[in-house]
Amino acid sequence: MKELNPELIAWSEKRGSPQFAAAPIRVIIIGMGKLSKEFLQSLFLSGKSKFQNLQASIKSGLWCNRLSQFLNLVNYTLNALQHPDMLNYGPFYLHMTPAEVHPLVPQSLLELPSNGSGSPLNLPSQRVNLSSFRFLLDQLPSILCIEFSGKAHDPFEHPDLLQMVDYAFHYNGAESLIHTDGLRLDEFTDAILKSKLRTLVINLIAHRPSSYGLLSGQPFALFVTILENVKVLLHRRRSCRSKLSVELRMTIDLHNYHEIPAMIYFAKDLGVNALHLDNYLPRDITMKSDRSLYRHQPDMVKYFREIEQVYSSESGFKVYLPKLLEPDMSNYRHCRDAYNTVSVDSEFNVSACSQHQLLYGSLGKIWDEDFFNNPMYQWLRAVFSSNTDPAFAPEVPLACQVCPRNTPMLGSTHKG
Ligand code: SF4
Repeated sequence: MKELNPELIAWSEKRGSPQFAAAPIRVIIIGMGKLSKEFLQSLFLSGKSKFQNLQASIKSGLWCNRLSQFLNLVNYTLNALQHPDMLNYGPFYLHMTPAEVHPLVPQSLLELPSNGSGSPLNLPSQRVNLSSFRFLLDQLPSILCIEFSGKAHDPFEHPDLLQMVDYAFHYNGAESLIHTDGLRLDEFTDAILKSKLRTLVINLIAHRPSSYGLLSGQPFALFVTILENVKVLLHRRRSCRSKLSVELRMTIDLHNYHEIPAMIYFAKDLGVNALHLDNYLPRDITMKSDRSLYRHQPDMVKYFREIEQVYSSESGFKVYLPKLLEPDMSNYRHCRDAYNTVSVDSEFNVSACSQHQLLYGSLGKIWDEDFFNNPMYQWLRAVFSSNTDPAFAPEVPLACQVCPRNTPMLGSTHKG
């Protein structure tokens, strides 16, 4: 287990409760009332879609899981309105990095079997395997959506990735989304289209090779490879009439934001379903960069509002505009991860932050009773409740002060 985050410890000591025994439940309750309109809308839509799934599931006999998920949503809605003393619903979103290995496993040994056999360090496992994934989902009956991503390792490096997707769909009724760098797509095109995967987001980074090289620091030949893989996937998707949503990601900085219309045109012309435009962030997640986009930069908000107006009328295609940062976000408390998401690592440590999974340390395992109310969750909820009593208000962690998930929406989603 990683060391606890010093900010959490400082908060705990300030409250005079090193055991976290008297957790600020009152603070959590106030935070519940602050859930954003967008989040509530997404929950409603998700609930509606899950109700339709529930009807189908009753017919197929798998109604028990679906029913408990639906009741969890109802429970959440009722509790959000009534401001209860405790969060008595489970998380809706599961985030995991399936191809990442235990931090102690040497990088040169990554080719070892995913079940961990032969581990030189006698670690219990190097990656989550299919059996342990099933165990994981058994602990999380309320999960509606699973997001697979990677940091050092693309999710498709995991040999059982698509089997996990299918398992989650069939036995938990959960939809899956995979973030990939797209380099290995050609090996999995048919398997992806046969699987129950709902959304595939490919990080193309740019809309032309030269920009790809500049933004990623990688040879621009990789851009050509990824683009070719995407084109083949889209062609095969058309042939088999798959409903898989294929989406692109690109990085926006101060030097290329004026090219956004060209990027949108490029993505539409390619035939993908959506384009995600990510604000540029430096590698060190606690640092700021002059290349990132900020609200106070001249005409920045006006520019994006104009883009929003032009492209909101496009049909069948979504553009997710970059989230603009502020130079000082030390009082920003907009992230909602601690209210709806659980992230796990390969050892099933749980984290309330989906971006930097165990940045804040871990206080528990997925099998712990009521892990969703553990001290880590309580601390982050206290951080992100804008109505927290100032006497107990923890400081916003440095990483959250430069995280786009902690910014207010600037028309971030545009539906056609
Ligand atoms: S703001 Fe970002 S870094 Fe902070 S908890 Fe939310 S997702 Fe994690």
